[in-house]
Amino acid sequence: KPFPIRLQGPVIHGFGRGSKELGIPTANIPASGLSTHSDLESGVYFGFVGLSLAPSKDTPSSSTLVYPAVLSIGYNPFYKNSMRSVEIHVLHDFSYDFYGAALNLLMLGFIRPEYDYTSLEALVDDIKTDCDVARRSLQRESYQKYKHEPWLMDFE
Ligand code: ADP
Ligand code: MG
Repeated sequence: KPFPIRLQGPVIHGFGRGSKELGIPTANIPASGLSTHSDLESGVYFGFVGLSLAPSKDTPSSSTLVYPAVLSIGYNPFYKNSMRSVEIHVLHDFSYDFYGAALNLLMLGFIRPEYDYTSLEALVDDIKTDCDVARRSLQRESYQKYKHEPWLMDFE
C-alpha cells in the first residue's frame, strides 16, 4: 500500500465551473506534486488536510487547522479536461474563501475510480456518498492517529 501520500501547495484558482454553487467547493492545488506519484491511479481519495490561513476578519490571528477531506485526482471526464487536477473538498463549513492558503494534504485511502457521468445529478449524488465514506473512514482510530501527524502543520 502506498499510503500515506503527501502533497502540498498553495490553494489556486480552479476552473471556476461552479463546484461551489453545487455545495461542494473544491480547493485546487498545483498538480506538480503528482510528478513523483505518476503511477497514482485517478479517482476519489480521502485524507486529512492541514491549512495555514492568513489573518482575516474571520480568523483575526493566523491559524493552522486540520480537517478531514475528500479529493479527486484525475482528468474529470465529465468536463473533458486534458490535464490532471487535484481538487480537495474540505469536510468543514467555511464562511470564507481561502485562496492562497498553504495546504498540506495527507492522502490515506482510495474510494473509487473516476466515472463518466451523463447527468450532473448523478455526479453530485456520488460525491455526497464519497463525503460520507470519507467521514466514516477517517473516524476510525487507525486513521484518527494521522490527524496528529506533525507534517500536516509543517508549513515552510
Ligand atoms: P475553483 O474553481 O476556483 O476551485 P470552487 O467553486 O471549486 O472554485 O471553490 C473553491 C474555493 O472555495 C476554494 O479555493 C476555497 O477558497 C473555498 N472553499 C470554501 N469552503 C471550502 C471547502 N469546504 N472545501 C474546499 N474549498 C472551500
Ligand atoms: Mg475547485
